[in-house]
Amino acid sequence: MIETSRYISNTVQELQPSGIRRFFDLAANMEGVISLGVGEPDFVTSWNVREASILSLEQGFTSYTANAGLIELREEIGSYLSSRFSINYHPKHELFVTVGASQALDLALRAIINPGEEVIVPEPCFVAYGPLVTLSGGKPVPLATNVKSDFKLTVEQLEKSITPQTKALLLCSPSNPTGSVYSKEELQEIAAIVDKNDLLVISDEIYAELTYDDTFTSFASLEGMKDRTILISGFSKGFAMTGWRLGFVAAESKLLASMLKIHQYSMMCAPTMAQYAALEALRNGLEDVEAMKKSYRRRRNLFVESLNEMGLTCHHPGGAFYAFPSISATGMTSEQFAEQLLLQEKVAVVPGHVFGPSGEGFIRCSYASSLEHLQEALNRIQRFLKK
Ligand code: PMP
Repeated sequence: MIETSRYISNTVQELQPSGIRRFFDLAANMEGVISLGVGEPDFVTSWNVREASILSLEQGFTSYTANAGLIELREEIGSYLSSRFSINYHPKHELFVTVGASQALDLALRAIINPGEEVIVPEPCFVAYGPLVTLSGGKPVPLATNVKSDFKLTVEQLEKSITPQTKALLLCSPSNPTGSVYSKEELQEIAAIVDKNDLLVISDEIYAELTYDDTFTSFASLEGMKDRTILISGFSKGFAMTGWRLGFVAAESKLLASMLKIHQYSMMCAPTMAQYAALEALRNGLEDVEAMKKSYRRRRNLFVESLNEMGLTCHHPGGAFYAFPSISATGMTSEQFAEQLLLQEKVAVVPGHVFGPSGEGFIRCSYASSLEHLQEALNRIQRFLKK
């Protein structure tokens, strides 16, 4: 037997496994658990979308597509971005299809980062951001936000964290894990700083379709920002297509070409049958997206109101499908709270600290679960708090 761990790169050895994993493993070995832990829709992908994919297989479309994806799909994505978010991207030169928003994020970072360059990452945030920056050779610069600013970065904070090494800001709106949504005015203020300091913005808009109160503003649609923005999005959340692994990236043509260079060597193209599904989702699926959004909004209203009533103060999440209530009044750490809630009442939530130290004192609950499950989870949480 040889000791294989010595072959593993220093960067990967130093990478910490995601803190969410431990809870999944714990919950997986228990029966009767209600999970508010996973970050994915509880809807099955619409039938017409699944059928379009099946049809593509029946027709024998099982080869690679162009590296950038089916041209019909790129054209549909271009029209979708234009009609939905008022941004125009050329389907041949300014966008391409990826394996989920995850790959798009990875490509964006690898295409722009030189060793040691910094990427500002407002926290609490999606667990992959920091590790992806590190793997691209960059340095993540966490920026702690708090509930007073609705977990959004302030321009003062942003200005303070910029150094000569700063290359980009990684922005997520609506946010995982907080559900916060930046208003157009807030984004404009950020855009002014970005412009003044000659930065790029990687704008993760994977939850754009799930914005409940105000209209969603895409960062690239702000004046002067299209060339400074790498727009990341996809089908996983709004279209309930997590398992299809389909996303896209849109950016100025030279930036886009640099990402496509990596994509063509590392991935070739996104799965063909999933691309046919996405084509149908864009052509005939937007009504279903609207219906799912309505359902999430109802559940958000019920869930967040109930949490507040039982003393778990929760700021108002304007988008995504997460509530991020404070558990600090219980005197427990978020890890203790999540662990005890799971062991005693069999409700799985995610402790806030896994999304960055500023998430400590909070838990993330996904309300993408049936109303009955949510009500039962709320009953159990209430009972847990009484104990
Ligand atoms: N960005 C954020 C903020 C997310 O929450 C997720 C999924 N949890 C992703 C990106 C990745 O999405 P995809 O399934 O498209 O890779």
